[in-house]
Amino acid sequence: MSYFPVLMPVYNRVDLYFERGEGVYLFDDKGDRYLDFVAGVGVTGLGHCHPHVVEALKNQAEKLWTVSNLFKTHSGGRLAQRLVDLTFADTVFFQNSGVEAWECGIKVIRKYFSAINQPERFRMITFKGNFHGRTMTAMAASKTEKMVAGFGPLINGFDLAEFGDIKSVRAAVTDATAAIVVEPIIGEGGFKVPPPGFLRQLRDLCDEKGMLLMFDEIQCGLGRSGKLFAHEWEGVVPDVMCIAKALGNGFPIGACLATAKAAQGMTKGTHGSTYGGNPQATEVANAVLDIITERGFVEDIARKGDIWKKHLESITAEHPTVFSEARGRGLMRGLVCVPPNTTISAALREERLLSVEAGENVIRFLPPLIVTEEQLEEAAACIDRAAKKLEVSA
Ligand SMILES: *Cc1c(COP(=O)(O)O)cnc(C)c1O
Repeated sequence: MSYFPVLMPVYNRVDLYFERGEGVYLFDDKGDRYLDFVAGVGVTGLGHCHPHVVEALKNQAEKLWTVSNLFKTHSGGRLAQRLVDLTFADTVFFQNSGVEAWECGIKVIRKYFSAINQPERFRMITFKGNFHGRTMTAMAASKTEKMVAGFGPLINGFDLAEFGDIKSVRAAVTDATAAIVVEPIIGEGGFKVPPPGFLRQLRDLCDEKGMLLMFDEIQCGLGRSGKLFAHEWEGVVPDVMCIAKALGNGFPIGACLATAKAAQGMTKGTHGSTYGGNPQATEVANAVLDIITERGFVEDIARKGDIWKKHLESITAEHPTVFSEARGRGLMRGLVCVPPNTTISAALREERLLSVEAGENVIRFLPPLIVTEEQLEEAAACIDRAAKKLEVSA
């Protein structure tokens, strides 16, 4: 237990040591069981140690670990083909994390405008409250004070607009604007679902101005919202998209997807990754896709999401001094808190329910996608108990 002081204190880690996971449950070193509605922040979509995924990794671990992108594997080729078949995309590049996949998308966009001889168009519009990761580029795209303070100078080329407000987006467009980069549902920023039609308005604006549209579906993608990808709620497709989190169910992998047109600048030697698309990652992701693309799996997420929504709405109605709003979509829902959300997450931990804070004083719930109705009810009972205790102590 003495090793934590030597880790950089950039996280405010909870004093719990987890040793084992099983489906939607986590067990700590004291043997206490927690309902895991963090799921590695939307990562373990299929729950902990899903047998099909474990088997894929075990088999691969005994066969081949890595060969580098200098060679091919059937596993990586198959995964890329499946992602292409499931989406708008023609081409895929694998990375090891979300932000790498996002940054690959940013490079795709910059290179596209260079390839069509408009290198002066390099700026991108991003949204207040966004989160795209922690590299220098992703920080520059967010400009959140807490994230960027002391890390300057920031990479140039990102302009912020108001999420959900097409007028502010139009106002941010200049002759130098290359693209709009957006989370179809804002994750870290507080589980904000855009007003209906907003993604369509972004698509239309991009088409009108010859700009590219990039979606960051790292958190909201792969079933989480009740559709395979959150942008499907509006029937709108991007030119570039990044995914990660649930794709590996905990094994690090991210992917940048693009149309052939958008990716035309990504020629030999323009990008790379040592580990990206190694066969362990791609075999795990193939196993994840086996389950997520099973008939009815995503529809069931939407159905369970509706049940979860009712729970959260009645909790909000019953405890107005603790929660002021239920928001989100599918199994990507949260509550706007009245006391600080850190107070709420601590109170929920006392009830053995794990949750995670988000922007706008929201408490987020990211249950594994395999959660059952009974487990949602169990979680709702935990929130209800925690709220009652907070009301008594207030
Ligand atoms: C988590 C997240 C990222 C960053 O992913 P990492 O794997 O932590 O680099 C980027 N965008 C969104 C929307 C995310 O939720």
